[in-house]
Amino acid sequence: MSELIRVSGVIPESIVDGPGIRYSLFVQGCPHHCPGCHNPQTHPFEGGTLRSVEEIVAEVKENPLISGVTFSGGEPMCQAKALTQLARELKAIRKNIVCYTGYTFEQLLAENDADRMSLLAECRYLIDGPFVMAEKSLMVKFRGSKNQRIIDVKASLEAGQAVEANI
Ligand code: SF4
Repeated sequence: MSELIRVSGVIPESIVDGPGIRYSLFVQGCPHHCPGCHNPQTHPFEGGTLRSVEEIVAEVKENPLISGVTFSGGEPMCQAKALTQLARELKAIRKNIVCYTGYTFEQLLAENDADRMSLLAECRYLIDGPFVMAEKSLMVKFRGSKNQRIIDVKASLEAGQAVEANI
């Protein structure tokens, strides 16, 4: 059965949410409430639109220019089960996955939640940590603040510690 995802919005073609031309999916609901967040409308866990995995995959398939899909938000880890199914179906059509999260890689590892670890395992890159106003920078690629890292997920899971990607 196709899982449902509570979606705040999509950007069908983005070049600022990871490498290449990407389809960016903004999920609805975030528990972090980072001061200065650019997407406060994504914080409530109600609202947004319920969309099926099937429907999103079909939309991505329509555009051959898309190299990957980015999960942003909102907090993707709060919808880990449905996003894992989506990630698997997207990878089956050769799209790579980038996921933003307000949690750090270390927090996710320590928490060891089965759904969140499954989602993590499907990602090529995890862009981790909350947005921190005092560390805001326009110079850090794909990120809002300097504390956030672009993590090579496969290398990090193998090493058991965060390995930053140089992209
Ligand atoms: S984790 Fe992201 S969406 Fe959530 S409050 Fe922080 S910056 Fe905003």
